[in-house]
Amino acid sequence: MLELEEALSRLLAALPAPTTESVPLSNAGGRILAGRVTAPIDLPAFDNSAVDGYAVRAADVGTARADAPVALRLQGRLAAGEVLAEELHQGAAVRLFTGAPMPPGADAVVMQEDTRLNPTEAQEILILDSVTAGENVRRQGGDVKRGAVLGESGQRLTVGRLSLLAASGVAVLTVARRPRVALLATGSELKEPGAPLEPGEIYESNRLGLAALVAQAGGTPQILPIVPDELDATRAALAQAFGAGDMVVTSGGVSVGEMDFVKSAFEQLGGELDFWKVAIKPGRPFVFGRLRSQFLFGLPGNPVSALVTFALLVRPALLRWQGASELALPAYRGVLGEALANPGPRRHFLRVRGDGTGRVYSAGAQASHVLSSLAHASGLVDVPPQTTLAAGTMVKVWRWE
Ligand code: AMP
Ligand code: MG
Repeated sequence: MLELEEALSRLLAALPAPTTESVPLSNAGGRILAGRVTAPIDLPAFDNSAVDGYAVRAADVGTARADAPVALRLQGRLAAGEVLAEELHQGAAVRLFTGAPMPPGADAVVMQEDTRLNPTEAQEILILDSVTAGENVRRQGGDVKRGAVLGESGQRLTVGRLSLLAASGVAVLTVARRPRVALLATGSELKEPGAPLEPGEIYESNRLGLAALVAQAGGTPQILPIVPDELDATRAALAQAFGAGDMVVTSGGVSVGEMDFVKSAFEQLGGELDFWKVAIKPGRPFVFGRLRSQFLFGLPGNPVSALVTFALLVRPALLRWQGASELALPAYRGVLGEALANPGPRRHFLRVRGDGTGRVYSAGAQASHVLSSLAHASGLVDVPPQTTLAAGTMVKVWRWE
């Protein structure tokens, strides 16, 4: 039985370098960058106004006060998107709006609130406050200089990064290809939701949640039909799954019983098992194997075990397959509102719920078939073997979605 870290590093080491593709920026959200991107232009691309107001020469209005306004002659009007070619005259101002380019010769903008129209002279504006050179001006390159690094290989294209790239005019990006992940559920007792249940049957509930987690990790899930507990059927289903995906994720059928066919069917197809069993709870049985350049992740069937082993072992593998540099689950810190006990010999990832004020409680019963506590939970707390974390302990809560 492997420790979690050892299992994870073995699995990550087996994965190939990412394959890449070019995609339009509009399709790149959430993808992993597969190369450095540098800025093709300065941001802002030109000096422009940060406010609605009047472009001036700061030296012209150095003495302006509310009770001693300085009158400037109006030389023109500039909306965002317009340009003024001529130089700003001495003693003059240009009416302009946020984002409008600074006229040549102007070095500051007086905001509209610090001005008043001259009631007796329509071609004049009264300036009620002084400005320093550069005030209310957004400088060319003040945000990003041309040639600066906008994104590095391995970074995820977050909303912020996408906005930066869009503003820089980047239209096409090289990203990692999305892994196609075929999902199989094994178990002769399993029925599709909606079908009537015969005695002893249960509804299949793993593929849907796993498909959502695959998509969140950047993969494309492919849900395949339920597989009965028979060797031939399992082998045929695995063959079909390896035809459909870069990786195959199965649930169920990896324990020690004689009805557990995933490992033997995989080996009959030519697959090599790398490891089986990880020292965590829920989820001890977990199979990792390779079939030439493809991979099998065999998860235990109990729904909570399937989800937790996916979050701890398959999610990082999907991300690494895409070349991602950040593999850890997102986490937040909280304080235990009650004790969390793990009397067993393996690390237990306990389902917890936050109360919204930073306090963290058990989400309910922790057996690996219990779905109600999973539905209440906002994350997992890793409790070491034979350990009780007392109320008041600061803990890290790992989020799986
Ligand atoms: P197994 O890992 O196949 O021994 O299954 C362990 C437990 O999980 C059994 O109670 C199964 O009925 C249940 N189980 C297995 N696969 C699923 C599934 N896809 N959906 C819901 N329950 C499942
Ligand atoms: Mg089973």
